Amino acid sequence: AKEDGRNRLRLYDSGLHQCLLREATLETALRRALTNDELRLVYQPQFDASTPERLVGAEALLRWQDPENGPISPGQFIPVAEKSDLITELGWRVQELLCKDLQRWLAAGFAPPVISFNVSPKTFREGQFAARLHEVMTRYHISPGQLQVEFTEGTLTDRSDIVFQEIQALQKAGVDLAIDDFGTGYSSLENLKRLPLAELKIDKTFVDGLGNNEHDEAIARASLAMAQAFGLRTVAEGVETPSQLAWLQAHGCDRIQGFLLARPLEAEDFQAMLHNPDTA
Ligand code: C2E
Ligand code: CA
Ligand code: CA
Ligand code: CA
Repeated sequence: AKEDGRNRLRLYDSGLHQCLLREATLETALRRALTNDELRLVYQPQFDASTPERLVGAEALLRWQDPENGPISPGQFIPVAEKSDLITELGWRVQELLCKDLQRWLAAGFAPPVISFNVSPKTFREGQFAARLHEVMTRYHISPGQLQVEFTEGTLTDRSDIVFQEIQALQKAGVDLAIDDFGTGYSSLENLKRLPLAELKIDKTFVDGLGNNEHDEAIARASLAMAQAFGLRTVAEGVETPSQLAWLQAHGCDRIQGFLLARPLEAEDFQAMLHNPDTA
């Protein structure tokens, strides 16, 4: 009995338990974050590959400032949110925050480029995404051409009709669609063929190897060729070095996003870039 007790105790203290406990704590904190307005968006500029001083777009990325634990990265809280209904709440909040920022910039006379934002598979499968976005855009007087939705191939694995309907509704409304983290999922060719996409984003994991890893270069080259064949704009994410930039320029990638050119910026710092688009 003593032995059992010790085993149980060991199990209780195991990494798995700690992990579940952390997730439960994070989930509670995230719920509170939604109520207390602890979430905001930052904006990572995207530049024209052939004239990298030209701002051509931006990606909106979620940030969470927890009053006790400081900043918590989306790489940490998005996966936890995705296990519960929280991800859908987050999705609605992102739409709201983005349209609010855009309305402020437009009202102040700035001309922001098209802003992309991320939608998680679960939010997309909810079947309310396009309708909610339309409602939020209307409320803030944002035109659909101002926005682009990024989703991953993982969203499509179950070939859900709802997702397809949502995608068509967004396209019909004039909101562009980008396939995110391209090359990390499955059935890429088929997806490219049947979906009304505007843009393909090459994932950072492949960009990392440009100039030194033949395998990554082959995937990047193939992705660029496929995008070209399907008439899609291409964006490389996570560009950190001049040699990665040079490789992408030489291989006809359209747009560049990465720390080399700009980190994600607070809304006011991004707005300052809109003042003078020639200053990168
Ligand atoms: P993602 O969609 O692939 O976003 C790109 C991530 O790469 C961002 O991390 C960005 O800050 C980072 N990044 C960009 N350039 C560089 C670079 O040159 N070097 C390095 N090391 N990193 C770079 P972030 O903001 O931490 O977001 C991580 C992931 O969290 C995103 O990956 C996305 O999957 C998710 N995420 C972020 N915001 C949202 C959101 O509003 N909604 C949803 N559903 N997911 C989000
Ligand atoms: Ca993205
Ligand atoms: Ca368009
Ligand atoms: Ca990525």
